[in-house]
Amino acid sequence: MATIGFIGLGNMGAPMAANLVKAQHRTTGYDIVEGAVTALADKGGHAAARIAEAAAAGDIVVTMLPAGPQVRAVYFGPDGVLAHAKPGALLIDCSTIDVETARAVAAAAAEKGLQMLDAPVSGGTIGADAGTLTFMVGGDDAAFARAEPILQAMGKTIVHAGPSGAGQTAKICNNMILAASMIAVCEGFALAEKLGLPAQTLFDICKTSTSQCWAMTGYCPVPGPVPAAPSNRGYAAGFTAANMLKDLRLAQQAAGASAAATPMGAAAANLYQLYVDGGGGPFDFSGIMQFLRRSEGSTKI
Ligand code: NAD
Repeated sequence: MATIGFIGLGNMGAPMAANLVKAQHRTTGYDIVEGAVTALADKGGHAAARIAEAAAAGDIVVTMLPAGPQVRAVYFGPDGVLAHAKPGALLIDCSTIDVETARAVAAAAAEKGLQMLDAPVSGGTIGADAGTLTFMVGGDDAAFARAEPILQAMGKTIVHAGPSGAGQTAKICNNMILAASMIAVCEGFALAEKLGLPAQTLFDICKTSTSQCWAMTGYCPVPGPVPAAPSNRGYAAGFTAANMLKDLRLAQQAAGASAAATPMGAAAANLYQLYVDGGGGPFDFSGIMQFLRRSEGSTKI
């Protein structure tokens, strides 16, 4: 059993922390949303009233926050993780953030004698609930070896991608591919609908055909074929379109800096920007299906 401080109990953090509790780790959680902290305590975890309290409660501190600015605030703030973590603690940031912030926080942690990993995840809220997430980990071998048994309580596939920042690099590439494939799946189902082919029929054919992909078979953007998918509950997130847009911007930033050609990634970023501008931000990223339906009749979006 390990002692773990967990900061950021949102759509992903809440089920991840619950799985640590289930694995018998003493888990102390904090979130700015009080109800999220109470919910963890109701599941057998412990409640912290401040970041500092959660940070000091664990030999290991896990964070699952929206983006780089929140990660900087939680780690660098006077009440923050770096100021209050136990000597020798291992810090694991599972948020999806820019590589620069990931490396800056890890360097500051190292200066304080703390180990730090960037460990963003893939698998969505369904994977977080089931404890089947994929972790893409950046950091040194010793920190990875220490983290692996903890990450196994929340995930099925734990990959050491390379040094600090490598986990974030893998993650933004993954999400750029996911966004483009989600839009393609939506377009296929929208076209089938127009042509009178039922969604279930298209799904049953495509799931074993060459268009098979997770966006379709794991997270289908039309209601019916995948009962656990957000499309069955009015596109309640899940993984918000706002967070997908954030990741696509990170990918575009990295593509610009490295002169990589990512025209599909750029198109996906533009479409998610339009969806978010139209009020789609808080909905699941698969809700872009609704945006494409609203755009029917126009050949240009
Ligand atoms: P979320 O917005 O549901 O959760 C973030 C939580 O952080 C919220 O509960 C928020 O109150 C809390 N928070 C923000 N600032 C804080 C602070 N200063 N102190 C304490 N708590 C604070 O987001 P999420 O969907 O859980 O995603 C978290 C991260 O995981 C994001 O970087 C996202 O891109 C990534 N991610 C999400 C999914 C998904 O399917 N939801 C999948 C893979 C990766």
